[in-house]
Amino acid sequence: MRQFLDIKGRYPDAIVMFRMGDFYEMFFEDAVTVGPVLDITVTSRDKQAEDPVPMAGVPWHAVGGYLRTLVERGFKVVIVEQMESPEEARKRKGSNIVRREVVRVVTPGALLDDEHLRGGEPNFLVAVVAGPDAGAMVDPALVVASEPSRTPRKPSKSTRPGRESEQALAPLALAIAALDISSSEFVIASCRRPDQVRAELARLAPREILAAPELHAWLREQLGPDGPAIATRDSIDGVANPARVLGRIRHLHEASGEGGSRLREEEEEAAASALAYAEATQPGQTLLLHRLRRHEVARHLVLDETSLRNLEILRTMRDGQRRGSLLWAVDGTQTAMGARLLRGWIGAPLLDIPAIRARQAGIEALIGETRPRAELQSRLKDVRDVSRLAARARLGTIAPRELAALRSSLQALPGLVVLLAELTARRIDRKLPALLALGDDLLIDVRERLERMLVDDPPAHSREGGMIRSSADPVLAEQRELAEGGRGQLAAIETREREATGIASVKVRHNGVFGYFLEVPKSHLKRVPSNWVRKQTLVNAERFVTEELAGLEAKVLEAQSLALERELALFEELRALVSKAGERLVAIGERLATLDVLTGFAGIAEQHGYVRPELVEEPVLDIREGRHPVVERMLGAGRFVPNDSALAAGTHGTHDMARLWVITGPNMGGKSTVMRQVALITILAHVGCFVPAASARVGLVDRVFTRVGAADDLGRGDSTFMVEMRETAQIVAHASPRSLVLLDEIGRGTATYDGLALAWAITEFIHDQIGCRTLFATHYHELCGLEARLAGVRNVHVAVHEQRGEIVFLHRVEPGPAGRSYGIQVGRLAGLPAGVLRRAQRILDRLEAQERAAPNTQLDLFAPRGGEAVEPAESIEAVEPVRGLGAHESALLAELHECDPDRLSPREAHDLLYRWVARLRS
Ligand code: ATP
Repeated sequence: MRQFLDIKGRYPDAIVMFRMGDFYEMFFEDAVTVGPVLDITVTSRDKQAEDPVPMAGVPWHAVGGYLRTLVERGFKVVIVEQMESPEEARKRKGSNIVRREVVRVVTPGALLDDEHLRGGEPNFLVAVVAGPDAGAMVDPALVVASEPSRTPRKPSKSTRPGRESEQALAPLALAIAALDISSSEFVIASCRRPDQVRAELARLAPREILAAPELHAWLREQLGPDGPAIATRDSIDGVANPARVLGRIRHLHEASGEGGSRLREEEEEAAASALAYAEATQPGQTLLLHRLRRHEVARHLVLDETSLRNLEILRTMRDGQRRGSLLWAVDGTQTAMGARLLRGWIGAPLLDIPAIRARQAGIEALIGETRPRAELQSRLKDVRDVSRLAARARLGTIAPRELAALRSSLQALPGLVVLLAELTARRIDRKLPALLALGDDLLIDVRERLERMLVDDPPAHSREGGMIRSSADPVLAEQRELAEGGRGQLAAIETREREATGIASVKVRHNGVFGYFLEVPKSHLKRVPSNWVRKQTLVNAERFVTEELAGLEAKVLEAQSLALERELALFEELRALVSKAGERLVAIGERLATLDVLTGFAGIAEQHGYVRPELVEEPVLDIREGRHPVVERMLGAGRFVPNDSALAAGTHGTHDMARLWVITGPNMGGKSTVMRQVALITILAHVGCFVPAASARVGLVDRVFTRVGAADDLGRGDSTFMVEMRETAQIVAHASPRSLVLLDEIGRGTATYDGLALAWAITEFIHDQIGCRTLFATHYHELCGLEARLAGVRNVHVAVHEQRGEIVFLHRVEPGPAGRSYGIQVGRLAGLPAGVLRRAQRILDRLEAQERAAPNTQLDLFAPRGGEAVEPAESIEAVEPVRGLGAHESALLAELHECDPDRLSPREAHDLLYRWVARLRS
C-alpha cells in the first residue's frame, strides 16, 4: 500500500493500474471510478477491516481492451509493473516487497499500440503556447496571466542563446506543436488569428491538447464541446532538465534541413512542452524522433474547419465516414504510412508551384505504366507501418511478430527498386522523378540480420521464446539441444520401463506440480517396482516419480530456461539493432509513403480519366469538362454530366472570364455539385494530384471559403441562420483576392426581404472589395440583376428539360439566368401528396399573377395588403369558361379540375365517374 500510495501521489490525476501477479489492480477512488466504466466488480482488500480499501482488478492479458475504454473516455492511465519476480524479491536483503515501477502513462495523445491507433490516421498530441501578442487574439488580460515569463520578451537566457536576432521578426500570437510519438511525426506551426488556430487544429485533428490553464476556456470555445481532451501544460521551466529538452528540439529542427528558419521562442516552448509531456509518458525511454518540421501556414492553401466539413474533404458530413469523402475518392494507397501521408497532403495543399509540379512529375511517370504500377502496388502491400514499428522498437515494446513485419517490409524494397529502375530505363530522359526514388539506404544490414536471426513465423509475444533461429547462435543451439536431448532421454526411459515392467501402457508425463512422472493404470499396479515413489492417486491410475526422472527434469528445465534466457538476450539485441536504425527506418518509411501516394494517384488518374492540371500564378480557374470526384464515383461510369467553369479574379477576368458566377436553377438541378466540384478540383490541383476534367488551368488559391448547406450548431448554441451568418462573416473578413469562395444560398434562413438584401450586399462587397473568384448559388432570381450592374458578375444556370409538366434535370451549366424554379415539380419527385401539390400550384399561379400586376413588391400570401384580406382559397380556384366548349362541358371540366381523387373512396370515385358520363351523354 505504501508503494501504491507513493506512486499514486506522483500521479494524482491518473488512474493507477498496479500489477499484482496476474492482475492489474486499482485501489481507493480509482477503483470506485473505473468500476462502472469498465463494468467490473469493486471489492475490497480487507473486508474485515474497519475501513476497507476499495479495489478492482483486470486480468493482465486482457488489459488492452480496458485501457482502450479508459483512454477513449478521457482518462489518463498509469501502468505500474513488477520489475522482478517474487523469488528475486525474497532473495533480496531488507524489504522483500516486489519492486514496482511506472513503465508507461497512457493518454489519448500518447498512444503506441496498434489496438488504439488507426492506421491511416495520425495521433497527434498538440501543445499550444500563447506568444506576447496573443492577448489581442485570446483575451487582453490573458497573456500576462498565462505566460508570465515570456512577457515582455526577455533578453536571452543561458539556455537560449542567440535570441537577439529574433527581435526583428514579426510578433506572433500562438505557436502550435504537434507530435505523434507513434510515427515520429513532429511539426510546428504559428498562427496569428483565431481562425488560423481553428484551421490548424481541424487539420491536425489532435487527440489531446496541452495548454496553460488560462487558455483552456478559449480553446474549448474554438474546438467545440466534442473536441479533444485539453490537459494542462507545464512550462518549459517546470520540466526536468529544460536545457536537454530544448537542445533536442533545436537539434531536431536542424535535422529538418530548414536551416534558415530558426524557431521562435514560443515555438520552442510549444515543441518542448509536447516533447516533455510525451517523454513523461514513457519513463526511462527515449522517443524516436526524426526531425521537427515547420508548417508554414502561408505556404499552404488553407482549408478551415468549415471547408473541411462542408466540402467533405476528410469525412462525410452525414455519417462522418471516410467513404464518400474527397480523401476516399483519391486514396489508392496500399500502406498505412501512405494513407497517413495522403491525409496530410489533402489537409494541407501546397502553394509552391515547383513542389506541386514535382508531385505531378511523379504521377506522370507512372501513367500508362499499368503493369509496373500494379506490381509496385502489390509489393507495397507487403510493406507494413515501418515508421510505427521503428518507434515501437525504440521504446522497447516491439513484439517478435512485429519484427517479422518489419523484415517483410524491408524484403519488399529490392523488388521495388528493380521496378523503379525498369521504369527509369524506359523514360526518354532516363531519370526517375525525385519523389519516386527510395534513396540509397535500403537497410540491407538490418534486413539481413532479421533474416538470419528471426524464425519464419515468430510468436506474438517474446516471453515463451520460439522467435530466434537456432542457427543464429551456437549457445542457443546448444541449450536447445540439451533441452531436446532431455526429451529424447525421457522417451527412452518410457520405452525402457515398459519393457522392464511389462506394463505396455506406462507413460511418462508432465505437470506443473510434480514435473515428470510415470503414470500406471490401476490394473497394472502390482508390477510397479519398489523404487518408484508414489505421488498421486487418480480414479484409474497412479503417478510415480523416480530419482532418474527428477534428475532429468532438473536438467531439461535448466536447459530450457537457459535457452529462453539466451533467446531473450538475442531478441533484445535484435530490437536494439532495429531501434538504432530508427531514424533510417523513418526516412525510408517517408519515401515509401510518398511512392505509395503517387502510385495511388496515378492509378486513380488512369482509371477515372483525370488529367494533369496546369498551375499558374494568375488568379484564374479554367476547368473544361470538370466532374465531381465523389458524385461521379457514386453515380457510376458515364452517368455524370461534365461542366466547364471559368473564373478570373480582379481585372484578369475582363475579357471573357467573370470573377463571380451567380448560379440559378431548380432544386436538385446540380448547383451545389458544380460549385463543389470546382472547389475540389482546385484543392486536388494544389495537392499535386491529377483532376477529374478534360483540362484545368488553376491559378493559386490561398484559401477556400465555403458557406454551404444549413446545419444547426446547437452544441455551440447557434441557430441555422446564425451559423450561416457566422460563416459568411468569416468570408467577408478574411477572403483575399486570391481566395476561392463558394456561397450556397445565403440569406435563406430568414425572412425573404432580409435574406435577399443581405445576399445582395454581400455579393456586392465580395465583388467590389475583395474581387476573388466566387461561385454563388441562389434561389433569389432577383440576384440575376447584379449582372447588369457589376462588371465581373456572370449569370449561369443549371438546365432542365420540361415535358408535359414533368422535368428532367440535365445537370448542364448554361449561360444566363434560370427561367423558373420548378420547386413544385421537385416536390412531386420527392413524393408530396397530389393534393398539396395542386394547392401549391394554384397559390403559385396566383402569386405570379400578383407579381405581374405589381412587380418588385414582396409577395406575401399571408399578410393582408392595402387593407384587403387575401381571398379565400375557393376563389382562387374559379374556372373561366374554356374557349370552344359549351357552358355544360366547361362546368364539367371545372368539376373535374376541382376533384381530388386522393380524397375519394373507390366507391365515390366510381359513382362520380358514372355521374359525369351520364351528364355528358344527356
Ligand atoms: P438545391 O438547390 O436543392 O440545393 P442543387 O441544385 O444544389 O439543389 P445538387 O445537390 O447539386 O442540386 O444536385 C442534386 C443531385 O443531382 C446530386 O446529388 C446528383 O445526384 C445529381 N447531379 C448533380 N450534378 C450532376 C451532374 N453534373 N451529373 C449527374 N448528376 C448530377
